[in-house]
Amino acid sequence: MKCRICGSEAEHRSYVAKEMMLGLRDEHRYFQCADCGCLQIENIPDNLASYYPDNYYSYSDAGKGGNPLKKALMKMRDTYAATGQCQIGRVMQFLSPNAKLATLRPANISKDARILDVGCGSGHLLHSLRETGFNQLLGIDPFNREDIVYPNGLRIEKRDIFSETGQWDLVMFHHSFEHLPDQQANLQQAFNILKPGGMALVRVPTVSSWAWQEYGVNWVQLDAPRHLFLHSLKSMEALATQTGFRQEQVVYDSFGFQIWGSKQYEQDIPLRDPRSWAESAENSIFTAKQISEYEQRSHELNALNQGDQAAFYLRKPV
Ligand SMILES: [Zn+2]
Repeated sequence: MKCRICGSEAEHRSYVAKEMMLGLRDEHRYFQCADCGCLQIENIPDNLASYYPDNYYSYSDAGKGGNPLKKALMKMRDTYAATGQCQIGRVMQFLSPNAKLATLRPANISKDARILDVGCGSGHLLHSLRETGFNQLLGIDPFNREDIVYPNGLRIEKRDIFSETGQWDLVMFHHSFEHLPDQQANLQQAFNILKPGGMALVRVPTVSSWAWQEYGVNWVQLDAPRHLFLHSLKSMEALATQTGFRQEQVVYDSFGFQIWGSKQYEQDIPLRDPRSWAESAENSIFTAKQISEYEQRSHELNALNQGDQAAFYLRKPV
């Protein structure tokens, strides 16, 4: 097999992973490049779309009701999470963090920045940003059923990055990049539509992690066959260089899911199973105390650059 990232045809190590989110348990072959370390699926299934059911998590609507005080506080929290501004928001972010928005902070963006979110599903993250006053946002996702226009004006369009033109300050992939068959072409297109000095934020699971070492093919974020590429630090850096980016920063941002999800797969419990922690705390094999220990452990792993996912900040040179 030839590595699709670095081209190496060395003796790669093979793995067989089962579909375990839905619990289909059909088997998919992967290999890990002996040179760049990227774990990748051998053959992309023809029926890949059938592995994304209608209730797939990114497709549920953003911006549903809720009480007005709570919404106001969440808005302040989200402002702080994304920009580092707003003191009440700072307290709220401490009490009830929005980890996803906080990944934007190293990009150092202002509220008038032009931000494109690629593969954004129903656009939860952009919706939060729009609510805090960011006003030049667009989400795209070719797998949505149709275009979405929210009451606050946010648009989510049903299309892919190759139909996009123009000059963005920030192009983001929040756990969508690992689903894309052609890694170079997608990142190259992100490069092309950024302003000089603009940034691509790529958040992906990574095999440069304790969880991949510990759980192997039961690692929950391998997510066969939806995740086509599980990058290493080395393979992401190779990809960034190939496409003209300068990699500025890598921030690990994993959470307890890597442990409880993988432990469930070890015991043959799918993510959508009634016994899964994702479905029911009551029927789960874990106690709330164990789950909070896994969160704590994940914070420690992130600090050691050993968490199972990371945010890559890639700069387009001026
Ligand atoms: Zn490789």
